[in-house]
Amino acid sequence: MSLYQSYRPRKFSDVVGQDFVKKILANSCKTQTFHHGYIFFWFHGIGKTTLARIFAEAVNCTAITPDGNPCHACDNCVAFDNGKMIDVIEIDAASYTGVDDIREIIEHAKFTPTQGKYKVYIIDEVHMLSKNAFNALLKTLEEPPAHVIFLLATTEIHKVPDTVLSRVIRFDLTKLGEKDIYDLLVKICGQEKIAYEENALRMITHRARGSIRDSLTMLEKCIIDASVTEKNVIDALHLVNTGFLRETFDACMSGDGAAIAHIINTIDDEAIDVRQFATQMTEWIVDHINEAFNKNAFPLYKEIFDLFTRVFVQSRQVSVPMDILRMALYERVKWSLPPVTEKRDTNTLKAIPDEAPIAETPAHSPIPIEEIVSEAIEQKEPTEVPEIIQEVTPVVDEIPAGAAPMMETVEKIDDGVFSPEEFLRRLEKAGIKSTIIPLLKTANIHLDGNTLEIQTTGFCKSKCVEASYYQVLESVAQSFGAQTINIIVPNELQPETSPDEPRAEDLARSLFE
Ligand SMILES: [Zn+2]
Repeated sequence: MSLYQSYRPRKFSDVVGQDFVKKILANSCKTQTFHHGYIFFWFHGIGKTTLARIFAEAVNCTAITPDGNPCHACDNCVAFDNGKMIDVIEIDAASYTGVDDIREIIEHAKFTPTQGKYKVYIIDEVHMLSKNAFNALLKTLEEPPAHVIFLLATTEIHKVPDTVLSRVIRFDLTKLGEKDIYDLLVKICGQEKIAYEENALRMITHRARGSIRDSLTMLEKCIIDASVTEKNVIDALHLVNTGFLRETFDACMSGDGAAIAHIINTIDDEAIDVRQFATQMTEWIVDHINEAFNKNAFPLYKEIFDLFTRVFVQSRQVSVPMDILRMALYERVKWSLPPVTEKRDTNTLKAIPDEAPIAETPAHSPIPIEEIVSEAIEQKEPTEVPEIIQEVTPVVDEIPAGAAPMMETVEKIDDGVFSPEEFLRRLEKAGIKSTIIPLLKTANIHLDGNTLEIQTTGFCKSKCVEASYYQVLESVAQSFGAQTINIIVPNELQPETSPDEPRAEDLARSLFE
């Protein structure tokens, strides 16, 4: 027998929560005053049918206890407990296939009970009744025989016709607190001699979302060798730990490509169920929504919530749900390391490391940055770089003044028309290390839509992509409305030049030595 069945309450006081409803029902039993119809409404697993069953047993009990509970000892109670009380008819409208049968059953209400004083109909998920069955129910409720009591339960009260609702006493049950369910789990573990980790029970409680039935079903799945550990819960329910949920959320907020790549790899490697994960993420965000209010960041939280809701829905429609999740997470990446070519590649989904950033060049790059830099380092012949840069780059003045800020989503530090000089001025103001400024002065910098393009030497690029420089570049670029930065090293920057003149690269390098 399952835990849920074993621990099904047999008296009102054993039902978790619902104190007000329990009191009214027990009081009716004590005073033997019954209405001909009741409806219990709330979401699943909260104890609607449990209350209805205790009540159904109690109305026919011939030795009701002083506190209004069934005695479990009289003939009627014994028959009921053994499932042989023919005057209590239980119908699950959701799974009952013969709709006409239900109609007939309800119409039979006019016949007097054979064993007890009352004929009790428990109709679970009553909103699922067919039209004919509802009509039969309504007809009986309009002229109820004195010996009939209807106990209706529903999770969708709005689907129950008003004509029915107006003829029954309605009990809206209340959601159970996590503490109520947690205490129940602790109590059951104690009685069953099951060792438990508190956090494991909390995870189950939280997953149950107010449903006692779900919590007990989950508890049962998580018992291994008479104990419930956090690991058991994670394994049995295919959950990820809350630390990973936080990590995922933070990565989505920051758009950190390396963190997001790590999340994707972990989900892949550990074969985490995508839909379950998406559900956990949405639940986690709802649970932490106060954080959003405190940080005045509700739209961002909602954005990420929507993302995982979309993953949950869309992953149903594809054969590889991981692809949906993967693409959704990629969307969050702020492409902090631009590829050399315009076409983006997922291989660039790496954070800019503090050291050796140029090692992260995308595989399809026509000229790997490390080659360019090493060539530049090894090349002895000096070149006249600044002049050549002018030849290979478009003229800055061609860019219309109004073309700069394209992306409204980018937070701007202030307004202002883009110019290379203004860009450099802001870089200095933003505290970029002054050593890079001379290098950038020789670069061709222009703004194309939401992309800031810097055409420069391999060495300068290798400096620009270092985290300490890049962060400043990025924030200043954003102040002009740029969303991405492309740092380009044109092929033409490795020309044959006079050996007598020093190379700009070498000059620049000397600044750093
Ligand atoms: Zn009894």
